[in-house]
Amino acid sequence: MTADILTPQELKKADPVFGQLSFNDHEQIVFCNDKDTGLKAIIGIHNTVLGPALGGTRMWNYATEWDALNDVLRLSRGMSFKSAITGLNLGGGKAVIIGDAKTQKTPELMKRFGEFVHSLSGKYITAEDVGMETADMDLVREVTPYVTGISESKGGAGNPSPITAYGVFMGMKAASKYTFGSDNLEGRTVLVQGIGHVGEVLVEHVTNEGGNVIISDINEARLEEVSKKYGAEIYRGDDVYSVPMDIYAPCALGATVNDETVNKIQAKVIAGAANNQLADENIHGSLLQQKGIVYAPDFLINAGGIINVYAELENYGKQEIIRKTENIYDTTLEIMRTAETSNITTHQAALKVALERIEARKNQK
Ligand code: NAD
Repeated sequence: MTADILTPQELKKADPVFGQLSFNDHEQIVFCNDKDTGLKAIIGIHNTVLGPALGGTRMWNYATEWDALNDVLRLSRGMSFKSAITGLNLGGGKAVIIGDAKTQKTPELMKRFGEFVHSLSGKYITAEDVGMETADMDLVREVTPYVTGISESKGGAGNPSPITAYGVFMGMKAASKYTFGSDNLEGRTVLVQGIGHVGEVLVEHVTNEGGNVIISDINEARLEEVSKKYGAEIYRGDDVYSVPMDIYAPCALGATVNDETVNKIQAKVIAGAANNQLADENIHGSLLQQKGIVYAPDFLINAGGIINVYAELENYGKQEIIRKTENIYDTTLEIMRTAETSNITTHQAALKVALERIEARKNQK
């Protein structure tokens, strides 16, 4: 089982689908093409042992179709483990739409995508991810019931990002308790990389608790806005990983812990929202462990969003959403202690719990 990012040369050498390094016994991969709307999408269904494969749709201007395939394979696999460790009866799936969300996303394209989702009869249920808004899911809802993350006025649980941020905050506090002996973030320096839907709310939580927040983003206007709102310091240099900090919170895109950055990172704790933060979960997970950096597994602490959308399927309310999200604190602490006693990485410890739950259910069937 591996999750490496491949170079374009390596990607071309591998067999097109089943031979991909990121292919991990996925159950089904669906390629969707519609000339009229310009839709080119891939739906990845990794595992449905625990339930229907639920996971968001990402719209991204991928450099190559190989990159899109690699991304959907990695992301859908992550969803299986995220739902499993969170105790949800959901499998893992994800979709990617190839294109620029700012210029190529149209209502017709979203509805056509919804029709492809519908053709899977509920085996895959979609939601929003990067490049998607609640309004896009409302459009998908017009053609299929197999969508979550729709707006509250349409009976949905609304934007999942604030709950995701709250879960990440819980995971960050647990990792701080484990590392520093206290979960109080007062006086701690936290670098939040990416201050989008999730990052901004995380900045708010940390600031409210008295933490010193440094923010970095490629969007200058957002930097100004968020800095003004919460008094956060802006980092504008080109070596964000070398900034002195207690906690690094990756909230932009994945694979920021990689060969180039791992030896620069100054933090004692890594806890953020981005999916697939470790470029190679075995190599970089072990390097962090050797360096004494405590890593809060991404798929464990960013589960708030899936908890929020699962409420739409199971009909539970805000109180239960908050309870389940706060539980991330206990699970994170438990995983860190297990990793220490078993001398494995925190990522491996979390993966083990998730895989055991999937295996146990499989054996019951
Ligand atoms: P978003 O698109 O709203 O925000 C991402 C931010 O990162 C943007 O402000 C963007 O300008 C910035 N960014 C992009 N590249 C950057 C770079 N190289 N350096 C610094 N900043 C950069 O996305 P979001 O919804 O806030 O999600 C953030 C991450 O968390 C994503 O990886 C997403 O997959 C993951 N995640 C989100 C949710 C959710 O509920 N939204 C749930 C689970 C995981």
